[in-house]
Amino acid sequence: MTSTQTISNKSNARKGSNFTAYEGGARKDWPNHSIEIPGLGKVSGKHFLKDMADLTGCEISINSLPPGAGMPFYHQHQQNEEVYIFIQGKGQMQIDGEVIDVQEGSIVRIAPKGMRTWRNNSNEPLLYIVIQMKENSLNQYGLGDGVVADIAVSWPS
Ligand code: ZN
Repeated sequence: MTSTQTISNKSNARKGSNFTAYEGGARKDWPNHSIEIPGLGKVSGKHFLKDMADLTGCEISINSLPPGAGMPFYHQHQQNEEVYIFIQGKGQMQIDGEVIDVQEGSIVRIAPKGMRTWRNNSNEPLLYIVIQMKENSLNQYGLGDGVVADIAVSWPS
């Protein structure tokens, strides 16, 4: 699904030759983020990070859904799997007709073809992070990709 970001906070990013450090806002401010979705209009509480943080291997969004709200559509993906990481509140996901209760700490991975929607059926905000990346693209993971440097740790005072 294509979308354009209506709030650009790219000026919040600090960049070095090997990093981008972006301030996405405190969790209580996540509802103030919004995007424009063609055909749907302004959708509040969603903020894509790829362009904000110069991501190259995945898309990440930070999300907030108010009490009683739900996605007004089902969607699938063409090539990306998604991982939903719920960090506050309670709600439900529906995937291929199956309903899953989610809460703080729930992590749900959905294959591209999974027909999905979700809702906040509680009376507090539902906060979650969505990561999407190309299915089966991961070659090295866990500790397998890290290389410990032979340098003593020191911090500028
Ligand atoms: Zn999606």
